Amino acid sequence: GQCASVCPVGAINEKSEIENVWAALEDDEKHVIVQTAPSIQATLGEEFDITNGTVVTGKMVAALRRLGFDKVFSTDFAADLTILEEGSEFLKKLEGEGTLPHITSCCPGWVKYAEHNYSDLLNHLSTAKSPMQMFSALGKTYYPQQSGVKAKDVYTVAIMPCTAKKFEKDREEINATRFKDTDAVLTTRELARMIKEMGINFSKLDDEDFDELMGTSTGAGTIFGTTGGVAEAAVRTVKEKLTGEPLEQLNLGFRGVNFAEVEIGDRTVKIAIANGLGNAEKLLNACKDGNCDCDFIEVMACPHGCVGGGGQPRPATYEKKVKRGVGLSGIDDKSAVRKSHKNPQVIKLYKEFLGKPLSGESHHLLHTTYKSRPKN
Ligand code: SF4
Repeated sequence: GQCASVCPVGAINEKSEIENVWAALEDDEKHVIVQTAPSIQATLGEEFDITNGTVVTGKMVAALRRLGFDKVFSTDFAADLTILEEGSEFLKKLEGEGTLPHITSCCPGWVKYAEHNYSDLLNHLSTAKSPMQMFSALGKTYYPQQSGVKAKDVYTVAIMPCTAKKFEKDREEINATRFKDTDAVLTTRELARMIKEMGINFSKLDDEDFDELMGTSTGAGTIFGTTGGVAEAAVRTVKEKLTGEPLEQLNLGFRGVNFAEVEIGDRTVKIAIANGLGNAEKLLNACKDGNCDCDFIEVMACPHGCVGGGGQPRPATYEKKVKRGVGLSGIDDKSAVRKSHKNPQVIKLYKEFLGKPLSGESHHLLHTTYKSRPKN
Protein backbone atom coordinates (compact mmCIF):
# COMPACT_ATOMS: atom_id res chain seq x y z
CA GLY A 1 0.00 0.00 0.00
CA GLN A 2 0.91 3.62 0.30
CA CYS A 3 2.88 2.97 3.46
CA ALA A 4 5.01 0.28 1.85
CA SER A 5 6.89 2.75 -0.32
CA VAL A 6 7.79 5.09 2.53
CA CYS A 7 7.55 3.03 5.70
CA PRO A 8 10.96 1.99 7.05
CA VAL A 9 9.48 -1.24 8.48
CA GLY A 10 8.33 -2.22 5.00
CA ALA A 11 11.80 -1.51 3.71
CA ILE A 12 13.34 -3.71 6.41
CA ASN A 13 10.91 -6.53 5.59
CA GLU A 14 11.83 -6.30 1.96
CA LYS A 15 15.54 -6.30 2.65
CA SER A 16 17.01 -9.12 0.68
CA GLU A 17 18.24 -12.09 2.61
CA ILE A 18 21.53 -11.65 0.78
CA GLU A 19 22.14 -8.46 2.75
CA ASN A 20 21.42 -10.25 6.02
CA VAL A 21 23.95 -12.92 5.12
CA TRP A 22 26.59 -10.34 4.12
CA ALA A 23 26.01 -8.59 7.46
CA ALA A 24 26.43 -11.86 9.37
CA LEU A 25 29.62 -12.66 7.45
CA GLU A 26 31.04 -9.25 8.30
CA ASP A 27 30.09 -9.49 11.99
CA ASP A 28 33.10 -10.71 14.01
CA GLU A 29 30.84 -11.97 16.80
CA LYS A 30 29.02 -14.34 14.48
CA HIS A 31 30.20 -17.81 13.53
CA VAL A 32 28.48 -18.46 10.21
CA ILE A 33 27.92 -22.02 9.04
CA VAL A 34 26.39 -22.93 5.72
CA GLN A 35 24.66 -26.03 4.37
CA THR A 36 24.02 -26.70 0.68
CA ALA A 37 21.03 -28.77 -0.43
CA PRO A 38 21.76 -31.92 -2.48
CA SER A 39 20.58 -30.47 -5.81
CA ILE A 40 22.72 -27.30 -5.71
CA GLN A 41 25.95 -29.08 -6.64
CA ALA A 42 24.35 -30.16 -9.95
CA THR A 43 22.79 -26.80 -10.81
CA LEU A 44 25.03 -23.94 -9.59
CA GLY A 45 27.52 -24.36 -12.44
CA GLU A 46 24.91 -23.23 -14.98
CA GLU A 47 25.07 -19.71 -13.48
CA PHE A 48 28.73 -19.62 -14.52
CA ASP A 49 28.30 -21.03 -18.03
CA ILE A 50 29.47 -24.49 -17.02
CA THR A 51 27.77 -27.28 -19.02
CA ASN A 52 24.33 -28.19 -17.67
CA GLY A 53 24.41 -31.27 -15.42
CA THR A 54 28.08 -30.84 -14.43
CA VAL A 55 28.65 -31.58 -10.76
CA VAL A 56 30.51 -28.63 -9.20
CA THR A 57 30.60 -29.68 -5.53
CA GLY A 58 34.30 -28.87 -5.04
CA LYS A 59 34.12 -25.41 -6.67
CA MET A 60 30.93 -24.63 -4.72
CA VAL A 61 32.69 -25.43 -1.43
CA ALA A 62 35.72 -23.34 -2.45
CA ALA A 63 33.48 -20.38 -3.38
CA LEU A 64 31.61 -20.55 -0.06
CA ARG A 65 34.93 -20.45 1.83
CA ARG A 66 35.98 -17.39 -0.17
CA LEU A 67 32.70 -15.71 0.73
CA GLY A 68 33.80 -16.03 4.36
CA PHE A 69 31.70 -18.87 5.79
CA ASP A 70 33.37 -20.32 8.88
CA LYS A 71 32.27 -23.88 8.09
CA VAL A 72 30.96 -25.31 4.85
CA PHE A 73 28.68 -28.26 5.48
CA SER A 74 26.28 -30.33 3.43
CA THR A 75 22.52 -30.81 3.74
CA ASP A 76 23.18 -34.27 2.24
CA PHE A 77 24.55 -35.27 5.67
CA ALA A 78 21.18 -34.37 7.18
CA ALA A 79 19.39 -36.14 4.34
CA ASP A 80 21.06 -39.33 5.53
CA LEU A 81 19.86 -38.50 9.02
CA THR A 82 16.33 -37.94 7.72
CA ILE A 83 16.44 -41.42 6.23
CA LEU A 84 17.34 -42.93 9.59
CA GLU A 85 14.53 -41.11 11.37
CA GLU A 86 11.94 -41.46 8.61
CA GLY A 87 13.01 -45.02 7.78
CA SER A 88 12.56 -46.02 11.44
CA GLU A 89 9.16 -44.39 11.44
CA PHE A 90 8.19 -46.26 8.24
CA LEU A 91 9.43 -49.54 9.72
CA LYS A 92 7.17 -49.06 12.72
CA LYS A 93 4.25 -48.39 10.42
CA LEU A 94 5.00 -51.56 8.45
CA GLU A 95 4.91 -53.41 11.75
CA GLY A 96 1.45 -52.07 12.46
CA GLU A 97 2.20 -48.95 14.55
CA GLY A 98 0.88 -45.91 12.66
CA THR A 99 -0.95 -45.10 9.48
CA LEU A 100 -0.02 -46.37 6.02
CA PRO A 101 0.62 -45.21 3.39
CA HIS A 102 3.55 -43.30 4.78
CA ILE A 103 3.94 -39.97 2.97
CA THR A 104 7.18 -37.99 2.84
CA SER A 105 7.45 -34.50 4.33
CA CYS A 106 10.81 -33.12 3.22
CA CYS A 107 9.32 -30.78 0.58
CA PRO A 108 7.80 -27.71 2.26
CA GLY A 109 5.89 -26.81 -0.90
CA TRP A 110 4.05 -30.12 -0.66
CA VAL A 111 3.60 -29.94 3.14
CA LYS A 112 1.93 -26.55 2.93
CA TYR A 113 -0.26 -27.71 0.05
CA ALA A 114 -1.30 -30.75 2.11
CA GLU A 115 -2.14 -28.53 5.08
CA HIS A 116 -4.44 -26.48 2.86
CA ASN A 117 -5.94 -29.21 0.71
CA TYR A 118 -5.47 -32.65 2.27
CA SER A 119 -5.88 -32.05 5.99
CA ASP A 120 -7.38 -35.52 6.43
CA LEU A 121 -4.12 -37.04 5.19
CA LEU A 122 -1.84 -35.11 7.57
CA ASN A 123 -1.58 -38.11 9.93
CA HIS A 124 0.08 -40.03 7.07
CA LEU A 125 2.90 -37.50 6.76
CA SER A 126 6.26 -38.36 8.21
CA THR A 127 6.87 -36.29 11.34
CA ALA A 128 10.55 -36.15 10.36
CA LYS A 129 11.66 -32.60 9.60
CA SER A 130 13.24 -31.83 6.28
CA PRO A 131 17.01 -32.27 6.08
CA MET A 132 17.43 -28.46 6.15
CA GLN A 133 15.66 -28.11 9.48
CA MET A 134 17.31 -31.17 10.99
CA PHE A 135 20.67 -29.69 10.06
CA SER A 136 19.83 -26.29 11.55
CA ALA A 137 18.54 -27.72 14.85
CA LEU A 138 21.83 -29.60 15.17
CA GLY A 139 23.76 -26.52 14.07
CA LYS A 140 22.63 -24.79 17.27
CA THR A 141 23.00 -27.78 19.62
CA TYR A 142 25.29 -30.60 18.46
CA TYR A 143 27.67 -28.31 16.55
CA PRO A 144 28.32 -26.01 19.54
CA GLN A 145 28.76 -29.03 21.80
CA GLN A 146 31.37 -30.53 19.47
CA SER A 147 33.14 -27.34 18.38
CA GLY A 148 33.11 -25.25 21.55
CA VAL A 149 31.53 -22.30 19.69
CA LYS A 150 28.71 -20.74 21.75
CA ALA A 151 25.26 -21.58 20.37
CA LYS A 152 24.19 -17.94 20.56
CA ASP A 153 27.01 -16.98 18.19
CA VAL A 154 26.19 -19.56 15.51
CA TYR A 155 24.38 -18.16 12.45
CA THR A 156 22.96 -20.80 10.11
CA VAL A 157 22.59 -20.26 6.37
CA ALA A 158 20.96 -22.75 4.00
CA ILE A 159 21.46 -22.74 0.23
CA MET A 160 18.24 -24.16 -1.14
CA PRO A 161 16.52 -24.85 -4.47
CA CYS A 162 13.34 -22.88 -3.75
CA THR A 163 11.65 -20.09 -1.83
CA ALA A 164 9.29 -22.60 -0.12
CA LYS A 165 12.30 -23.22 2.11
CA LYS A 166 12.16 -19.56 3.20
CA PHE A 167 8.59 -20.13 4.35
CA GLU A 168 9.56 -23.37 6.06
CA LYS A 169 12.24 -21.78 8.22
CA ASP A 170 9.63 -19.36 9.61
CA ARG A 171 7.01 -21.99 10.50
CA GLU A 172 6.07 -21.42 14.15
CA GLU A 173 6.41 -25.03 15.25
CA ILE A 174 9.69 -25.69 13.43
CA ASN A 175 12.11 -24.20 15.98
CA ALA A 176 13.52 -26.72 18.40
CA THR A 177 16.24 -24.62 19.99
CA ARG A 178 16.20 -21.38 21.98
CA PHE A 179 17.33 -19.62 18.83
CA LYS A 180 16.10 -19.32 15.31
CA ASP A 181 17.13 -22.73 13.97
CA THR A 182 17.65 -21.54 10.37
CA ASP A 183 18.71 -17.89 10.24
CA ALA A 184 18.76 -17.39 6.48
CA VAL A 185 17.82 -19.24 3.30
CA LEU A 186 19.36 -18.31 -0.04
CA THR A 187 18.36 -19.83 -3.36
CA THR A 188 20.89 -21.14 -5.88
CA ARG A 189 20.49 -17.95 -7.90
CA GLU A 190 21.00 -15.77 -4.81
CA LEU A 191 24.19 -17.64 -3.96
CA ALA A 192 25.39 -17.16 -7.55
CA ARG A 193 24.72 -13.42 -7.16
CA MET A 194 26.89 -13.26 -4.04
CA ILE A 195 29.70 -15.14 -5.78
CA LYS A 196 29.51 -12.68 -8.70
CA GLU A 197 29.31 -9.64 -6.36
CA MET A 198 32.52 -10.84 -4.71
CA GLY A 199 34.20 -11.10 -8.12
CA ILE A 200 35.11 -14.78 -7.65
CA ASN A 201 36.09 -16.54 -10.88
CA PHE A 202 33.98 -19.62 -10.14
CA SER A 203 34.98 -21.82 -13.06
CA LYS A 204 38.69 -21.38 -12.24
CA LEU A 205 38.39 -22.45 -8.59
CA ASP A 206 40.19 -25.60 -7.45
CA ASP A 207 38.01 -28.22 -5.78
CA GLU A 208 37.79 -28.20 -1.99
CA ASP A 209 36.10 -30.61 0.43
CA PHE A 210 33.27 -30.02 2.87
CA ASP A 211 34.20 -29.57 6.52
CA GLU A 212 34.13 -32.53 8.88
CA LEU A 213 31.37 -33.30 11.39
CA MET A 214 28.33 -32.36 9.29
CA GLY A 215 29.74 -32.49 5.79
CA THR A 216 29.97 -36.18 4.91
CA SER A 217 27.15 -37.80 3.02
CA THR A 218 26.36 -40.99 1.20
CA GLY A 219 24.99 -41.42 -2.31
CA ALA A 220 21.59 -41.94 -0.71
CA GLY A 221 21.63 -38.46 0.82
CA THR A 222 22.61 -36.90 -2.49
CA ILE A 223 19.73 -38.32 -4.55
CA PHE A 224 17.24 -36.45 -2.32
CA GLY A 225 17.66 -33.69 -4.88
CA THR A 226 15.88 -35.52 -7.67
CA THR A 227 12.52 -37.21 -8.00
CA GLY A 228 12.36 -40.72 -6.50
CA GLY A 229 15.54 -40.20 -4.50
CA VAL A 230 13.97 -40.06 -1.05
CA ALA A 231 11.96 -43.23 -1.69
CA GLU A 232 15.01 -45.05 -3.00
CA ALA A 233 17.22 -43.93 -0.12
CA ALA A 234 14.59 -44.91 2.47
CA VAL A 235 13.96 -48.34 1.02
CA ARG A 236 17.71 -49.05 0.77
CA THR A 237 18.01 -48.58 4.52
CA VAL A 238 14.70 -50.17 5.54
CA LYS A 239 15.24 -53.31 3.47
CA GLU A 240 18.77 -53.83 4.71
CA LYS A 241 17.82 -53.20 8.34
CA LEU A 242 14.90 -55.65 8.17
CA THR A 243 16.41 -58.43 6.11
CA GLY A 244 20.16 -57.84 5.95
CA GLU A 245 19.86 -57.95 2.16
CA PRO A 246 20.82 -55.03 -0.10
CA LEU A 247 18.27 -53.40 -2.39
CA GLU A 248 18.49 -53.81 -6.14
CA GLN A 249 18.11 -50.60 -8.19
CA LEU A 250 14.53 -49.29 -7.83
CA ASN A 251 14.22 -47.83 -11.33
CA LEU A 252 11.63 -45.23 -10.53
CA GLY A 253 10.97 -43.09 -13.61
CA PHE A 254 11.47 -39.36 -13.96
CA ARG A 255 8.06 -38.23 -15.17
CA GLY A 256 4.74 -37.71 -13.35
CA VAL A 257 3.63 -40.59 -11.17
CA ASN A 258 5.67 -43.77 -10.94
CA PHE A 259 5.30 -47.03 -9.04
CA ALA A 260 7.67 -49.75 -7.90
CA GLU A 261 7.38 -52.87 -5.79
CA VAL A 262 10.08 -54.21 -3.49
CA GLU A 263 10.20 -57.56 -1.75
CA ILE A 264 11.17 -56.99 1.86
CA GLY A 265 11.24 -60.32 3.66
CA ASP A 266 7.89 -62.00 2.98
CA ARG A 267 6.20 -58.73 2.24
CA THR A 268 5.79 -56.79 -1.00
CA VAL A 269 6.18 -53.08 -0.29
CA LYS A 270 4.52 -50.84 -2.84
CA ILE A 271 6.10 -47.47 -3.49
CA ALA A 272 4.74 -44.51 -5.42
CA ILE A 273 6.38 -41.23 -6.29
CA ALA A 274 4.75 -38.10 -7.60
CA ASN A 275 6.47 -34.93 -8.70
CA GLY A 276 4.47 -31.84 -9.51
CA LEU A 277 1.35 -31.12 -7.46
CA GLY A 278 -1.03 -31.99 -10.30
CA ASN A 279 0.44 -35.49 -10.42
CA ALA A 280 0.40 -35.77 -6.65
CA GLU A 281 -3.31 -34.99 -6.60
CA LYS A 282 -4.15 -38.10 -8.61
CA LEU A 283 -2.40 -40.29 -6.06
CA LEU A 284 -3.63 -38.45 -3.02
CA ASN A 285 -7.25 -38.42 -4.11
CA ALA A 286 -7.04 -42.20 -4.40
CA CYS A 287 -5.64 -42.30 -0.84
CA LYS A 288 -8.40 -40.05 0.42
CA ASP A 289 -11.03 -42.30 -1.13
CA GLY A 290 -9.41 -45.39 0.34
CA ASN A 291 -8.36 -46.64 -3.10
CA CYS A 292 -4.61 -46.60 -2.61
CA ASP A 293 -2.72 -49.77 -1.78
CA CYS A 294 0.68 -48.05 -1.56
CA ASP A 295 2.87 -48.27 1.52
CA PHE A 296 5.26 -45.39 0.84
CA ILE A 297 4.53 -42.24 -1.15
CA GLU A 298 7.13 -39.61 -2.02
CA VAL A 299 5.74 -36.24 -3.06
CA MET A 300 7.77 -33.35 -4.47
CA ALA A 301 5.93 -30.18 -5.38
CA CYS A 302 8.19 -29.29 -8.30
CA PRO A 303 8.18 -31.20 -11.56
CA HIS A 304 11.24 -33.54 -11.38
CA GLY A 305 11.93 -32.68 -7.72
CA CYS A 306 14.38 -30.11 -6.38
CA VAL A 307 16.49 -30.05 -9.56
CA GLY A 308 13.42 -28.26 -10.96
CA GLY A 309 12.98 -25.88 -7.99
CA GLY A 310 11.95 -22.25 -8.47
CA GLY A 311 15.26 -20.93 -7.11
CA GLN A 312 17.40 -22.85 -9.59
CA PRO A 313 19.17 -21.30 -12.60
CA ARG A 314 16.92 -20.29 -15.47
CA PRO A 315 15.77 -21.33 -17.95
CA ALA A 316 15.10 -24.85 -16.67
CA THR A 317 13.87 -26.92 -19.59
CA TYR A 318 12.86 -30.58 -19.26
CA GLU A 319 16.19 -31.63 -20.81
CA LYS A 320 18.14 -29.47 -18.38
CA LYS A 321 16.35 -30.94 -15.38
CA VAL A 322 16.99 -34.47 -16.63
CA LYS A 323 20.73 -33.71 -16.95
CA ARG A 324 20.81 -32.21 -13.45
CA GLY A 325 19.16 -35.40 -12.12
CA VAL A 326 21.64 -37.53 -14.03
CA GLY A 327 24.46 -35.49 -12.44
CA LEU A 328 23.16 -36.33 -8.96
CA SER A 329 22.68 -40.02 -9.78
CA GLY A 330 26.27 -40.04 -11.02
CA ILE A 331 27.47 -38.91 -7.57
CA ASP A 332 25.42 -41.73 -6.02
CA ASP A 333 26.80 -44.32 -8.45
CA LYS A 334 30.38 -43.27 -7.69
CA SER A 335 29.94 -43.01 -3.91
CA ALA A 336 31.90 -45.47 -1.84
CA VAL A 337 29.05 -45.44 0.69
CA ARG A 338 25.53 -45.52 -0.74
CA LYS A 339 23.40 -46.26 2.31
CA SER A 340 22.42 -43.62 4.84
CA HIS A 341 22.86 -45.88 7.88
CA LYS A 342 26.54 -46.34 6.91
CA ASN A 343 27.34 -42.60 7.02
CA PRO A 344 30.17 -42.44 9.60
CA GLN A 345 29.28 -38.90 10.72
CA VAL A 346 25.64 -39.89 11.25
CA ILE A 347 26.77 -42.92 13.26
CA LYS A 348 28.94 -40.61 15.39
CA LEU A 349 26.03 -38.19 15.87
CA TYR A 350 23.81 -40.94 17.26
CA LYS A 351 26.59 -42.32 19.43
CA GLU A 352 27.60 -39.02 20.95
CA PHE A 353 24.44 -36.97 20.94
CA LEU A 354 21.07 -38.41 19.89
CA GLY A 355 21.17 -41.98 21.16
CA LYS A 356 19.15 -43.75 18.51
CA PRO A 357 16.56 -42.92 15.83
CA LEU A 358 13.24 -41.79 17.33
CA SER A 359 14.87 -41.26 20.76
CA GLY A 360 13.53 -38.49 23.00
CA GLU A 361 16.26 -36.12 21.84
CA SER A 362 15.66 -37.05 18.18
CA HIS A 363 11.96 -36.36 18.61
CA HIS A 364 12.66 -33.02 20.21
CA LEU A 365 15.15 -31.80 17.60
CA LEU A 366 14.30 -33.67 14.42
CA HIS A 367 10.52 -34.10 14.29
CA THR A 368 7.67 -31.65 13.88
CA THR A 369 3.90 -31.29 13.61
CA TYR A 370 1.49 -30.11 10.91
CA LYS A 371 -1.73 -28.19 11.06
CA SER A 372 -4.80 -27.89 8.92
CA ARG A 373 -4.96 -24.52 7.12
CA PRO A 374 -7.90 -22.94 5.24
CA LYS A 375 -8.51 -24.40 1.79
CA ASN A 376 -7.09 -22.37 -1.09
FE1 SF4 B 1 11.40 -26.85 -2.94
FE2 SF4 B 1 10.40 -27.89 -5.15
FE3 SF4 B 1 12.28 -29.23 -3.79
FE4 SF4 B 1 9.81 -29.00 -2.84
S1 SF4 B 1 10.43 -30.08 -4.72
S2 SF4 B 1 11.71 -28.70 -1.69
S3 SF4 B 1 9.23 -26.94 -3.49
S4 SF4 B 1 12.52 -27.28 -4.83
